[in-house]
Amino acid sequence: MTSVEHMKWWGWGVEGVAFEHSNKPDFAPFVKQAVGLDLRKPAQAHLSFDELTVPASRASDEFIAELSTLVGQGHVTTDDQERVVHTYGKSIRDLLRIRANDLPRTPDLVVYPADEAEVASVVAAAVAADAVIIPFGGGTNIAGSLDPQPTEERVIISLDLGRLDRVLSIDEGSGLATIQAGAQGPSIEEQLGAKGWTMGHFPDSFTHSTLGGWVATRSSGMQSDKYGDIADITKGLRMVRPNGIVAIRPVPSASTGPSVREMIIGSEGRLGIITEVTVQVHRTPAVREVLGYFFPTWEAGLAAMHEIAESDASPSVTRVSNARESGFSLATRKASTGVSAQVTKGLMKVLTARGWDLEQLCLSFIGYEGSASHVRYEKGLVGSIVRKHGGIGVGKGPGALYDQKKFDTPYLRDFLLDRGAAADVSETAAPWSRLQEVYDAANDAANAAYDKLGVHGWIMCHLSHSYHSGACLYFTFAFITGDDPIGEYEQVKSAIQQAFVDHGGTLSHHHAVGVEHSPWMEQDISTEGVAIMRGLFDSADPGSNFNPGKIL
Ligand code: FAD
Repeated sequence: MTSVEHMKWWGWGVEGVAFEHSNKPDFAPFVKQAVGLDLRKPAQAHLSFDELTVPASRASDEFIAELSTLVGQGHVTTDDQERVVHTYGKSIRDLLRIRANDLPRTPDLVVYPADEAEVASVVAAAVAADAVIIPFGGGTNIAGSLDPQPTEERVIISLDLGRLDRVLSIDEGSGLATIQAGAQGPSIEEQLGAKGWTMGHFPDSFTHSTLGGWVATRSSGMQSDKYGDIADITKGLRMVRPNGIVAIRPVPSASTGPSVREMIIGSEGRLGIITEVTVQVHRTPAVREVLGYFFPTWEAGLAAMHEIAESDASPSVTRVSNARESGFSLATRKASTGVSAQVTKGLMKVLTARGWDLEQLCLSFIGYEGSASHVRYEKGLVGSIVRKHGGIGVGKGPGALYDQKKFDTPYLRDFLLDRGAAADVSETAAPWSRLQEVYDAANDAANAAYDKLGVHGWIMCHLSHSYHSGACLYFTFAFITGDDPIGEYEQVKSAIQQAFVDHGGTLSHHHAVGVEHSPWMEQDISTEGVAIMRGLFDSADPGSNFNPGKIL
């Protein structure tokens, strides 16, 4: 029997783990002020699984039997809960739909192959039967990249890669590891770490997302400043197609025409099934530190991040939150008492005496990795840039807060949904010269959308993932929903996305396209760009068997 673990069908993470605010005294007042939500009111119970209307499987007994002979009894299932878990990702739209019992179409069966040969045999059988195949990694995407098309008449197979979860080999001489595509973040780092290596890819969804999913969505981890985005980390790969395997060798660079490797990265299951990826890996660093810094304003923080990106310093993380997000982060701290509470109070007094408006204070995290002497050198370089822009270092405390919160925050969305508020994110990347413009436009667009809806909405932002030429801006927005939560969400989300593309940003820096962002593809990559991409999908998948309707 298959024993791949999945997240809750109705939300993030595993059953029994949830966001908790009783130990965070500043959180309830913060939420009240931010979106007008009173956390003293009881949470609404969401549907139980038995209350869902799950469409019957359309797979015939013969087809199920055929697939079972390919992957073994117990590795093909039409179980309702399995099919529901494989229907959606974790976008706010997905969560709202599942909570509203909105399941017009689910996969008809879930198949768990054990290796590449089994993937190939399932793909061949599926294409021969004109079925649809939707590869499934961890189900964490937030762009609607898994959602079956509601009008699809053909049998839909969710091909879960969860059994392909091993690090196959490490080429120690080259710093390359070959890893199966279904391996999840913690398992990859555990297997590599046991031999002294790290891949260094840590998206906020790390605990439940997979290598194949990262590659198929062009993911980026929080330490991308040092390790690169998945597009940089991926050196070679193997992808199953109906007529054979695409095998891309792990060479450091190649001059072999338009890059097929790049075409597969971000393909969201539209070109085939990625089974194996060869990634660059690094020796586990001797020292890893995340330090906190305060800046007097967002503009000062932004200028400092830009200068760090241009400098000789190469931190693993550069991140600065605007004043609103800094307020949010500080409100999610656990209660501090004794010395630490006194230190915080004292520091705030000093900053006020220096003329800082504490309402404008921006919290920054900078990460350092490497040998002790390298980390010391980097901290010196960064410290002088921070000071030049009016900032101050506040030590390891906020860095520990960052480490504590980073994988917990995803549970907050379910907590808010249970209480009638929706929270979601939109992120972009733009050149340094246009970042402030994009920032202003996105804030204005969200606030105009809130005014139109007549709601007390919230938007906050941080900069992360810095590059030589620009950076990623990551916005989080929230509001109390009314009678049409999805329609209201769409208004706010669309306004922000439109502001991105109108002001020189991309529709997404690392959350992919799916169905959520596809309306902006033409504005982002041009009509001719879309024509080339459409030609690729049409010729590579003439029968529309591979995750149709995503990206374009
Ligand atoms: P899935 O959601 O299962 O699938 C995503 C897409 O990839 C689908 O189209 C699927 O068909 C395709 N696919 C999956 N596996 C394969 C395969 N083997 N071959 C071919 N196609 C495949 N993303 C980031 O980049 N950085 C972040 O920091 C980040 N933080 C997040 C935090 C939260 C709380 C959430 C909910 C999401 C976050 N994401 C982030 C988005 C998401 O985690 C990424 O898109 C991730 O890469 C998806 O991986 P997955 O394994 O869950 O893929």
